[in-house]
Amino acid sequence: MTEKLYDNDAYASKFTATVLSCEEDKKGFAVVLDKTLFFPEEGGQTPDHGTINGIDVTHVAIKDDIITHYLEAPIAAGTTVEGVIDFTHRFRNMQMHSAEHIFSGLVFKHFGFNNVGFHLSDNSATMDYDGKFTYEDALKLEKEANEIIIKGKTITAEYPSSDVLATLEYRSKKAFSGPIRIVTVEDTDICACCAPHVHNTHEIGQFKIVSFENYKSGVRVSYLAGFRALEDYEKRLSDLREISRTISAKAGEELKGVAKLSEDLGTYKFKDIELRNKYIELKIQSELKNGDTGICILPADFSSCMQFASDALKERYKGVSVVLCGDDDNGYRFYAESDTIDLTKILADIKNSMNVKGGGKSTAIQGTVMGKAEDFCKVF
Ligand SMILES: [Zn+2]
Repeated sequence: MTEKLYDNDAYASKFTATVLSCEEDKKGFAVVLDKTLFFPEEGGQTPDHGTINGIDVTHVAIKDDIITHYLEAPIAAGTTVEGVIDFTHRFRNMQMHSAEHIFSGLVFKHFGFNNVGFHLSDNSATMDYDGKFTYEDALKLEKEANEIIIKGKTITAEYPSSDVLATLEYRSKKAFSGPIRIVTVEDTDICACCAPHVHNTHEIGQFKIVSFENYKSGVRVSYLAGFRALEDYEKRLSDLREISRTISAKAGEELKGVAKLSEDLGTYKFKDIELRNKYIELKIQSELKNGDTGICILPADFSSCMQFASDALKERYKGVSVVLCGDDDNGYRFYAESDTIDLTKILADIKNSMNVKGGGKSTAIQGTVMGKAEDFCKVF
């Protein structure tokens, strides 16, 4: 069993230990020490970062109470080593995890739902509850959680005796064997937990829900707390400043600016369709010829105008209207209509002689063709 130094002192960042074993496996050099400050991947939380004798620790795992550090280089068994954990990272995890206890304690107090899935990594943090409540409910709990944070409630972690434990009502995700570590947030929550926590709620700073969704039979709440919430706020403000600069909107009027852009876009789209239709009409007029077959070849980005072009052709040609969109190098989309001949027969013929995919009925066919427009149009 590895002695867990972080159990007694969540704020220590340096320690000395002895290497009990070092074996190479798929994940690197697996080093087991007699004691460690490194919190392993456990209880939904990703492990601490840091170094042992200056060598990067790439992962920390726990199995049967033995903590294994994965290193990029070996260290001989028997060596006395100095371990250093990245306390900036550790403290952010402490802020995040303590905030989770406060919020989950409030969810349990108000709704009786349990946190049945907790995930805390460097990039995200989610809490899954086994019952449904609304986003408005969640915002009320968020406010209550922040009030508890501001009040400065103490947070303690200890291993109560089995007699004391028997009298305690505490939240727990699983049935434990062996000593149970109880984390208590004063007047707020009692929960079985193995992770390092801050000593006082005011160290958390702030708690913010960032997304809320229905999940399985309950809800999933994503959140940020402490410095990670502050860093996220700065990132969002920076994005907003960039948006403000890009759309030339005054600070605080970005939403108005986006609404105006959206309105303008709708107008331009409308004008664009008008212009395209005008172009098609002029093109058909300038290419008028004798006969019953009308053909209109359009650029590739005119595919949404094919029906309009076909209707314009039908006004001038009594037999077949053929519209192509594309170019000889990359192929065409085609659309053909006729009230006088069976187009499915023509389609069957050109499928035999050209690289054509498509379908339709006797009066209208559509599809794609690879090859020259000139060759395709000859068959009509
Ligand atoms: Zn916990």
